[in-house]
Amino acid sequence: MSKRNIIKSQTAFKEAVTKMPGGVSSPVRAFNSVDTDPVYFDRGKGAYLYDIDGNKYIDYVLSWGPLILGHANDKVVRAVQETAAKGMSFGANHLSELALVDEVIKRVPSAESVRFVNSGTEATMSALRLARGYTGRDLIIKCVGSYHGHGDSLLIKAGSGVATLGLPDSPGVPKGTVRDTITVPYNDLEAVEAVFKQYKDQVAAIIVEPVAGNMGVVPPVENYLEGLREITKRHQALLIFDEVMTGFRVGINCAQGYFGVTPDLTCLGKVIGGGMPVGAYAGPREIMDNVAPSGPIYQAGTLSGNPLAMTAGVETLRQLTPAVYDDFTIRIDQLTDGIKTIGKAHQIPVTVNRAGSMFGFFFAEGPIANFEDVNRADLKLFSHYYREMSERGIYLPPSQFEGLFISTEHTKADIDTTLNAMEDTFKQLQL
Ligand code: PLP
Repeated sequence: MSKRNIIKSQTAFKEAVTKMPGGVSSPVRAFNSVDTDPVYFDRGKGAYLYDIDGNKYIDYVLSWGPLILGHANDKVVRAVQETAAKGMSFGANHLSELALVDEVIKRVPSAESVRFVNSGTEATMSALRLARGYTGRDLIIKCVGSYHGHGDSLLIKAGSGVATLGLPDSPGVPKGTVRDTITVPYNDLEAVEAVFKQYKDQVAAIIVEPVAGNMGVVPPVENYLEGLREITKRHQALLIFDEVMTGFRVGINCAQGYFGVTPDLTCLGKVIGGGMPVGAYAGPREIMDNVAPSGPIYQAGTLSGNPLAMTAGVETLRQLTPAVYDDFTIRIDQLTDGIKTIGKAHQIPVTVNRAGSMFGFFFAEGPIANFEDVNRADLKLFSHYYREMSERGIYLPPSQFEGLFISTEHTKADIDTTLNAMEDTFKQLQL
């Protein structure tokens, strides 16, 4: 097989590293952990990406989740173009905000009132401030290996790029802040009980990804989310679901609808912006009305509720019907069954986890239920696999600690092509 030509990308990256930290706007884009040069993209359409050297890829990253309708969805693009022609930003109220609020409230069980922000990080930071202000308590519980954005309180034993780079705690986070964040293993209710026992009446909230998506994909074990709901209620702490990744990916009513557990606060991002920068936090009015200006807890944003982002979100959510989720199940079945079969045929241990239109697979024996399990995965093998799949036109997240996504545009034929590339790659891995 002849090697891809990525000379233009390599030249651009060489220049970028002299002008941007690591050459990138966000760490995982440097591809350090898979020991290869990152490519530069020219365009995307549907399930496909095209780099500046003209290589075509089937995309399983989808901008890290937002592009549930694939790249450049016609309706979304048209609506954004029409909106842009009327003004890029007002820094004031406009009707597309209300349209997106309605779409969110209709679909997210815990959402009665919604505040828009510009990223998932802002959503989780703001939700924590609200939880602390509302309860009058300082401590926060989070899970080891979960990623909730790069806010100080949450950048502790984090997953995603932090795990990929092996930086469990970032320098620059004040010691006092670290003390106020307590970490527990994911899927472990006893650990949560123990924290509440030790820090009685001091815990403001537990923030959790209802399906952990930033250590690869790790679904909740039976009764885990129900248990968190019961414990937090008993201790008058808030339960925050960070659905920045799982929102509209796990199901039409997000993970909370799928699992039937309603948190106090919900953080959203990614899909609700249809590829534009956006985030949101939501909850019952009784809690949300503590946010300024209806309450004293301050949070604001020059570009929050940006018309382009709101429009892209509305046009995206309106296309997400129950039939779309039935199709996702069929495609993910095809993909995950295929991966398992290929792993078995080549006697390479592979564990596949899935939830809605997201999935993850690990080069390790299962089950994979928390970050400790994830760390058993063979990262060297993953890195080799990654490079071989790239050469075969399959674009994957460049880390074992990231989830994979499909869109409405991924066809049976795309998945067949992906599985063939995988079969070919697994043959290589055995050489
Ligand atoms: N929360 C979760 C669960 C995420 O997956 C992410 C990003 O991947 C964030 C928060 C942060 O979102 P953003 O990158 O938009 O700041």
